[in-house]
Amino acid sequence: MAGMRHRVVVIGGGFGGLNATEALADADVEVTLVDRTNHHLFQPLLYQVAAGILPPGLIAPALRHVVRDQRNARVLLAEVCDVNLTQKVVHAAEPDGRPLELPYDTLIVAAGATHSYFGKDKFAEYAPGMKTVEDARYLRDGILSKFEMAELASDPQDRAEWLTFVVIGAGPTGVELTGQIAELAYQVLPRDFRNVDTAQARIILLEGTPDVLPSFHQKLQRYTRRQLEKMGVEIRLNALAVDMDHDSITVQGPNGLETIRTRTRIWAAGVQASPLARLLADKIGVETDRAGRIPVNPDCTLPGHPEAFAIGDIVSLNRLAGVAQPAIQEGKYVGQVIKARLAGQAGTEPFTYQDRGSMATIGHKAAVADAFGRQVTGMPAYLMWGFVHVVYLIGWGNRLGTIYTWARALYLSKNRGHRIISFETAGYEVSGQRTLSRAIRPRPDRAAPDSPVSPASAAGPDQPGPATRPAQGSSVPEDP
Ligand SMILES: Cc1cc2nc3c(=O)[nH]c(=O)nc-3n(C[C@H](O)[C@H](O)[C@H](O)COP(=O)(O)OP(=O)(O)OC[C@H]3O[C@@H](n4cnc5c(N)ncnc54)[C@H](O)[C@@H]3O)c2cc1C
Repeated sequence: MAGMRHRVVVIGGGFGGLNATEALADADVEVTLVDRTNHHLFQPLLYQVAAGILPPGLIAPALRHVVRDQRNARVLLAEVCDVNLTQKVVHAAEPDGRPLELPYDTLIVAAGATHSYFGKDKFAEYAPGMKTVEDARYLRDGILSKFEMAELASDPQDRAEWLTFVVIGAGPTGVELTGQIAELAYQVLPRDFRNVDTAQARIILLEGTPDVLPSFHQKLQRYTRRQLEKMGVEIRLNALAVDMDHDSITVQGPNGLETIRTRTRIWAAGVQASPLARLLADKIGVETDRAGRIPVNPDCTLPGHPEAFAIGDIVSLNRLAGVAQPAIQEGKYVGQVIKARLAGQAGTEPFTYQDRGSMATIGHKAAVADAFGRQVTGMPAYLMWGFVHVVYLIGWGNRLGTIYTWARALYLSKNRGHRIISFETAGYEVSGQRTLSRAIRPRPDRAAPDSPVSPASAAGPDQPGPATRPAQGSSVPEDP
């Protein structure tokens, strides 16, 4: 019976892939959802994991649990390294390195995006970004370790360096992270330390353009700037990171070059599409855009391949930003197109996007939202932000758990409950070893596409995010 049904392979269980999978729940198809993680990650709340507010489990439910009631779907933990569009086979690697082949009748590629250092890959060694649960945990360990080192430091210069945090890029992620580090340093941690006054921390936000939240309305930019400054954050606009090492960052600003001594640099400046976008583009002979995204037809199919769809952060379509709502809406749309095709309906309407606005938090009770043509700031925006994010989390347990954890962290104990590090993690963080090992870790999805792949077990099957957000801030000069 397996093999008889229409086989849909979905690459990526993020916003796009999961919504496409769920849209096919009532279709006579066999869906294989393949992801290199076992969870659906709600990236908009990742910064709260980095700040020790939320535990990762609340924002990253297991994919196979999410689709447990969808009998026509199965989930595989594997990393896709190639797609043979002619033979209609996805090539992947299992966690132990064994090859896996997944033949398909219809393909949906929703592999998302990754960090972009704008050609300055050396920066990856010194300024980790945040895209995965591992990244967020790594940032959290790093931030907390620096406060521990400051407590131990006897030399004032040393202590000042441990207490200097530089966030590069003032898009929503950069602003949110900066706000959280400021709350940690100035409000949460001071009473917990004895030797060091964490309120002495310097928190610097770098942005290459003339304002924070570059793609938001000016009113919201002004509010965000004021709030951050009120919290004690130093904002450097028109400032580009031009160099960095383990102990410093060099910035080119309006007043020339400046080297800031710091042990913590965090990258929130740019993203680029998954390498799978380039791989597919090369195969079909099209160019990716500057963000590495592949162009698709108005119905989200790859040019020349009506059986292959690409959605979400890896595509450039109608100038949509790489945010959750386009991925969600494209996922649902593609599910409908596939069902219409199976029902024999010819011709499909092109994808149309419903804009739901943008929002970002700055800190406790401070947020900005641009929705329904109105710009909202402060507590009303904060409540809107909280409501939308909770609604879009998957599962009632996670929603209630998040509300409870927020109430505890922000109102009851005014603490961050998820701050566990150890001697080993701290040592690893502060020596920079872990950054290096991550930076040079080979990425299987960049592996040579024509590596021989043996036939393997491939047959048989076993919500939406917040309002859209504009692209990240930018803080490095781009290489030509
Ligand atoms: C820190 C952060 C905060 C954000 N905040 C917001 C926000 O507040 N609002 C908003 O609208 N948007 C936000 N975004 C953007 C939003 O999360 C993305 O636009 C959205 O996740 C895109 O969905 P997607 O399905 O295209 O990709 P993703 O959700 O990234 O999913 C891609 C999936 O593909 C898998 N994958 C990748 N490569 C492979 C491979 N080779 N083999 C197998 N699996 C693979 C990944 O593991 C992942 O599960 C944020 C992003 C980040 C990083």
